[in-house]
Amino acid sequence: MEEDILHNLEVIKTRIQKACEKTDRNPDEVKLLLATKTVSSERIKIALENGQILIAENKVQELKEKYNDLKGIPHENHFIGHLQTNKVKDILKYDVVCVQSLDRLELAEKLHQRLVAERKTTDVLIQVNASNEESKFGVHPNEAVELTRKVSEFRTLKVKGLMTIGLFSSETEKVRSCFKILKNLQLEIIRQNIPNVEMKELSMGMSGDLETAIEEGSTIVRVGTAVFGARVYPDSYYWDEGKG
Ligand SMILES: *Cc1c(COP(=O)(O)O)cnc(C)c1O
Repeated sequence: MEEDILHNLEVIKTRIQKACEKTDRNPDEVKLLLATKTVSSERIKIALENGQILIAENKVQELKEKYNDLKGIPHENHFIGHLQTNKVKDILKYDVVCVQSLDRLELAEKLHQRLVAERKTTDVLIQVNASNEESKFGVHPNEAVELTRKVSEFRTLKVKGLMTIGLFSSETEKVRSCFKILKNLQLEIIRQNIPNVEMKELSMGMSGDLETAIEEGSTIVRVGTAVFGARVYPDSYYWDEGKG
């Protein structure tokens, strides 16, 4: 088990490096974030004890279950799942430092209220539905700049960039066009020079499409399967919740 995870991490690092070489990027510009949904604390620990720092859950329940097990090991928790407003309090309790899935104003308002009460701030990424698929969360690309502008008005929320889940398709060029949409939105937001907004992070690319994402400017790749193996639950279990 340990060997598998360590081997898989090496394979991923090599993939990141090769993709960077192809486009003349510095591999230090691309952070590896481990998507740990359904992965046991024990397996996550192996990664954390071998140089990984960034991990992310999709569900508050899993964050909570693994919190005590991982508390003693240095790491950073991001949140990448659909966040219900009634769970906002919990993610702050479990030391989430960046909410990558901020996709609506109502959620920003609730986060802000809670952060004010706790005298805290948090990093956020605006989640964009760049593939325009019904089944995925995220603000429509046409509304992303507007949402960014509104979120920037909450002083407790530090906008650091954008996040997207690419189209699931074997056609690389279609997947690439999702990542291009995110890159173009980043450039547009930078051009508008919105106060309290830093647009340095582009969280895009997963086990199956990280090379394409890196070629298009990703700074955070979110990898689960390629490190920890296949999951029992289909991703729709995490992504469709509450939709319908
Ligand atoms: C599960 C998940 C990932 C990782 O997906 P893999 O294909 O297993 O690498 C990335 N981002 C989000 C939002 C996820 O839910």
